Amino acid sequence: MKRYVCIHGHFYQPPRENPWTGRVDLQPTAAPFPDWNHRITAECYGPNTRAAILARDGSVAERLNNLAYISFDFGPTLLRWLEAEHPRVHDDIVLADRMAVERTGHGCAMAQAYHHAILPLCSPRDRRTEVRWGIADFWRRFQRAPGGMWLPETAVSTSTLEILAEEGITFTLLAPRQAAQVRGIDAEDAQPWQPAGDLDCSRPYQVALPSGRTIVVFFYDGPTSQGVAFEGLLHDGAGFARRLIQAGRPGGLVSIATDGESYGHHHRHGEMALAFALKRLLAEPEVELTHYAAYLAEHPPSWEARLIEPSSWSCAHGVGRWSENCGCAIDPARSLKQTWRAPLRAALSWLRDRLDAHFVEHCGERDPWSLRDAWHEVGPIEDERLLSLLQMQNARLMMFTSCGWFFDDPGGLETVQILRYAWRALDLYEQTGGEAPLRDEFLDRLEGLRSREAATARELVATRVESARRG
Ligand SMILES: [Zn+2]
Repeated sequence: MKRYVCIHGHFYQPPRENPWTGRVDLQPTAAPFPDWNHRITAECYGPNTRAAILARDGSVAERLNNLAYISFDFGPTLLRWLEAEHPRVHDDIVLADRMAVERTGHGCAMAQAYHHAILPLCSPRDRRTEVRWGIADFWRRFQRAPGGMWLPETAVSTSTLEILAEEGITFTLLAPRQAAQVRGIDAEDAQPWQPAGDLDCSRPYQVALPSGRTIVVFFYDGPTSQGVAFEGLLHDGAGFARRLIQAGRPGGLVSIATDGESYGHHHRHGEMALAFALKRLLAEPEVELTHYAAYLAEHPPSWEARLIEPSSWSCAHGVGRWSENCGCAIDPARSLKQTWRAPLRAALSWLRDRLDAHFVEHCGERDPWSLRDAWHEVGPIEDERLLSLLQMQNARLMMFTSCGWFFDDPGGLETVQILRYAWRALDLYEQTGGEAPLRDEFLDRLEGLRSREAATARELVATRVESARRG
């Protein structure tokens, strides 16, 4: 009996473009590179498309496009940047998916919801748009329908899975602690539900949805994934391969998931350890190096799961990290000091509703929401006013990028970035005839927000948002 191994990389960077110029401003902390996007491309995205495997004498014996042998998802906003700035890397990412089709009969790329928003916290309309734009972007690049979709921060809820299933997505990937209960479904009579407890991650699970649809969930192997992300498993490619084989059982799947940036950015030369491990696994007769779509085609689920919801992979309190003072923090000394998270979400949601009312009013006879959902599928838009309205919608969807809530200090780059999207959306609102003054009330609603340097939202806007707006 073979052992199946699947390594998933979630590749994503917070958007860093100045919303007015479309260019990434200089980021001195990324020196000697102009900004973090360029630096991480040089350390991770590029090297993973041609990772060196060394001979005994230290010379390069071979180069491997690692992405063709793993499962991966790339943020659409990151791929858009790569396409413009590093087209060779972008094209090799697309090529990797084709190589996987040749090797396994199935592509190894998964789609991602478009703006990396926490889908369970989105309005139902935004949830649908994020999923549809993610699928449309995937089609444009990979020239096929995506089977799987990565949920940002693996944040899941029933309503999120319903939209995925409705839009034709067949599977997603979650953390093992997101499972609540499981039971076998291959017998005549359904078996009783049992607590997920020490979850068996070596098989796929079906999740039944209220609509009658179903979707498949894979749960990654927690300890082995942890080993890659935090315990130095990438110091030694041979040891990495051995650990993956040992973690499994004959006939079962071992799958791990981490940020893709582990391979080269978080761990220097991690892409070389990955390439070495992939070659080892490919040469191992009892091991099949696979990815989720290929595995699922041969192993339909014979178990069913119920999920803990809402839940995610990086907050132990459901999705509190992106909506409340839940206790999650990068710096433990700052735990329970994130009182700014709730008012930030509330203020942005208030602004969303005002901008949406304007959008609906000015779309004329057209159905505003199908217009927005299909924006990525239609050609260039001639009507300048309509284009501005859609750009306003894009900026206001960008306001909900999860990174704005993730870190401890609202004065950090990521939170300032989502305030910039809010300001950009407000510009477009005013340019398209929006007359009600919204900026002051928006800032009033952020009254309680203070950065670590005690800057208020008004001060952050005056110093770091207006400056970006002036270019
Ligand atoms: Zn939390």
